[in-house]
Amino acid sequence: MVLPNFKENLKKYARLIAEIGVGTKKGHTVSINISVDQAPLARLITEEAYKLGAAEVVLLWNDDVITREFLEHTDEDRLVNIPKSKIIQADELLEKRASRISVVSQDPAALAGVNPERVASYQAANGKAMIATRIATQANQVNWTVVGAASPGWAKVVFPNLATEEEQVDALWDEIFKTTRIYDENPVAAWKAHDKKLADKASKLNKEQFDALHYTAPGTDIIFGMPKHHLWDGAGTKNVRGEFFMPNMPTEEVFSAPDRNRVDGVISSTKPLSYGGTIIDGMKFTFKEGKVVDFSAELGEEVLAKLLDTDEGARHLGEIALVPDPSPISQSGIIFFNTLFDENASNHLALGSAYAFSIEGGTEMSEEELKEAGLNRSNIHVDFMVGSDKMNIDGIRADGTRVPIFHNGDWA
Ligand code: ZN
Ligand code: ZN
Repeated sequence: MVLPNFKENLKKYARLIAEIGVGTKKGHTVSINISVDQAPLARLITEEAYKLGAAEVVLLWNDDVITREFLEHTDEDRLVNIPKSKIIQADELLEKRASRISVVSQDPAALAGVNPERVASYQAANGKAMIATRIATQANQVNWTVVGAASPGWAKVVFPNLATEEEQVDALWDEIFKTTRIYDENPVAAWKAHDKKLADKASKLNKEQFDALHYTAPGTDIIFGMPKHHLWDGAGTKNVRGEFFMPNMPTEEVFSAPDRNRVDGVISSTKPLSYGGTIIDGMKFTFKEGKVVDFSAELGEEVLAKLLDTDEGARHLGEIALVPDPSPISQSGIIFFNTLFDENASNHLALGSAYAFSIEGGTEMSEEELKEAGLNRSNIHVDFMVGSDKMNIDGIRADGTRVPIFHNGDWA
């Protein structure tokens, strides 16, 4: 590590994650899902969370190599029968309303070549077993945040032209620190200012209450119907008890949910997607009445097909997000092969479940009521990038009049 002041910056990062990321307050339980490679960061987050008054910090370790070994070699019945102990632990954490910190550092190609059938079976079984946690998270019943950490496997994919592993890891940490405002003298204050800027954009769109959005770009011509009383959200949010937290760092997006049954047209992806350890690229989807009726991919089509077959909701959309092309991540020109970063460089959509708070009163609704209101339900939520500097977006009001929202990839 030759990056200047790395230790100080990692400590500032840990503080930001504990204080702004999950808004740690006295008495909170905090869980950290993190790779064993990132133990130094895990220790610092733990320290900062206790300083902020946490009652308990629980570590949930993971490891790329062991995950791959498991998916390749474990018995079929172990693949689809999630251990009871894991479900009990998840339930216990939910009872304690534990805040969830997820630190992502996975090698984007960690699972390349593993039988996609086995990966899909495991992901489906795990998604089903963890359903209570997913619902609680998406309804903001618990605080949660997703942040990144540089690992050698990931850094190598992002910076293949740098000569050594050390240079690659340094370059990735440098980007993580830049995009999360760690080089600011006071990152916590910088995040509060950034949050306000995105909240203003969201509140303007909320007042408009467009009936639909029309996207056009090369390979894209599509209309997204919007549910009645939909809500746009940006950066920071509040849990059901009114406590503030920041679900993603970095974040540059303002997002809502399209009507699960009112999406019609054709859309093309503009960046590769790393899903479950495989890279999918060059995707094209045709939607009819909200459902994917035709699709193709230049890379990873088989994995994409499995993804779309996860459940009924996997062929419908649950998120529509606006990110101006001049965003700092987009301007860096770097493809991170990691959704947390790449989605903040580009307008994106998500296949699968919508966030309950994307509609007024949604966090109080049952799964059935959410679906009735037009919010998609599924065990998956997978973002893919569709934005570019050639994209135009119009808002369509209920009376049919049009208002430009994006012109050539930036706010109109
Ligand atoms: Zn998003
Ligand atoms: Zn998303």
